Amino acid sequence: MLITISNRLPVSVVRREQSLHFESSVGGLATGLAQYVKSEPSAWVGWPGIPLSRISDGERAGIRERLKQESCHPVFLTGYEVENFYYGFANRTIWPLFHYFPLHTTYNKTFWAVYEKVNAKFADAVAEILRPGDTVWVHDYHLLLLPEMIRRRRPEASIGFFLHIPFPSYELFRLLPWREEILRGLLGADLVGFHTESYGRHFLESVSAILGHETRPGKIRTGNRTVAVGAFPMGIDSKRFSSAGSLPRVRREVEKIEKRSLDRKIILSVDRLDYTKGIPQRIEAYDLFLERNPEWREKVTFILIAVPSRTAVPAYAQLKKSVDESIGRISGRFGTIGWVPIWYLYRALPFETLAAHYRAADVCLVTPLRDGMNLVAKEYLACRDEGDGVLVLSEMAGSAEELSGSILVNPNNTDEIAEAIKEALCLSPEEQVRRNGPMRRRIAGHTVVRWAGDFLRELSRSRKETKA
Ligand code: UDP
Repeated sequence: MLITISNRLPVSVVRREQSLHFESSVGGLATGLAQYVKSEPSAWVGWPGIPLSRISDGERAGIRERLKQESCHPVFLTGYEVENFYYGFANRTIWPLFHYFPLHTTYNKTFWAVYEKVNAKFADAVAEILRPGDTVWVHDYHLLLLPEMIRRRRPEASIGFFLHIPFPSYELFRLLPWREEILRGLLGADLVGFHTESYGRHFLESVSAILGHETRPGKIRTGNRTVAVGAFPMGIDSKRFSSAGSLPRVRREVEKIEKRSLDRKIILSVDRLDYTKGIPQRIEAYDLFLERNPEWREKVTFILIAVPSRTAVPAYAQLKKSVDESIGRISGRFGTIGWVPIWYLYRALPFETLAAHYRAADVCLVTPLRDGMNLVAKEYLACRDEGDGVLVLSEMAGSAEELSGSILVNPNNTDEIAEAIKEALCLSPEEQVRRNGPMRRRIAGHTVVRWAGDFLRELSRSRKETKA
């Protein structure tokens, strides 16, 4: 059996008025694993998304029963745990530090203590269902201690770990007061996977410098075990995006967007409202572009989609305020009766509306200051069935390694982004298709299903090698 473990289950429990509802998410991870789930028994362990204080004991048992029908095993968390584990250590310590924001990083002993405790809760939940011969796949920065905690409970288990965010260079990682514990936690796995080779190298360097373990490319020797390390760039469900144009609702939405923009050129950006995404710098670059290229004023519309995220963390609330203000400034400065320079949508869009925006956009601006992978870049290219469209992409996104046909920019260099916007708008359709061809083939061939398969095959191979 494959046991997948992530902070959130693919099914969330929400309370509306008096009753509880079960909502499925169609995240990349759930899609990627769907194939395995079909061919062999599987289970998923994670938090169902509702704190204990919001459910009664009776409801808790009911949730457990109902989730079991979908092979999901809930780890229930109190409000205090969600506050300190999720909003605290995961999102105010690991997230900023691993994305190269040491000044946003909070080192707090309570966050750490609760993070350890919640990881142990997850380990107990896994140990309850884990049987000999099962494979365990742990996901992401919320559960860095889990591989070792499971190994202690089940020394023979086959354990894989995948990190969905960057692993920072040693000089950043060493700032963490709990750096040894985190590395030991990860080394409980048989295989540790990252999106890119460079994240893997950073990890090896930290293991060698901090723990003094013997390492060679792709391998770490720890006591009597060997841990494999590899790069597995995550893909998307490319068919879902490439065939979106055949959905009537998507076609209607595209028409609506084009009609409203009065056939102006459309520049699009889509991200969670997160300080790692470089949104203020992108807005500043657009401002510079309009200032320096008056001939483009009133001829272009920038649709900026920002999905609300982690609003309980202060840095996110501050960012929201500054983004709102800078959009207001641009509209005040360049807007006319008939033209709004930026359309700002602060909400999550359903799939069809998102796909319609990808299809309507002439240019997609993806300029994170740091990003583990960035799937939006891949989704945009997959959605364009004529093969046209221009992707302007940050060098600091993990996906830049695979998408070198895009216009690559340094996301801190607003002059360079402003120039790239102009270049993108002037690129001939033939050149767009020529550049996108190899990237679109790569995206179609390296889907999220293939990613999951590659990781799980490598996990089983490295287990056999260690045992031999
Ligand atoms: N997304 C969505 N609804 C929206 C905007 C974005 O479902 O309104 C999805 C998008 O399709 C993509 C994901 O959110 O799959 C964002 O992933 P990405 O790797 O770009 O960034 P992350 O949010 O994981 O940092």
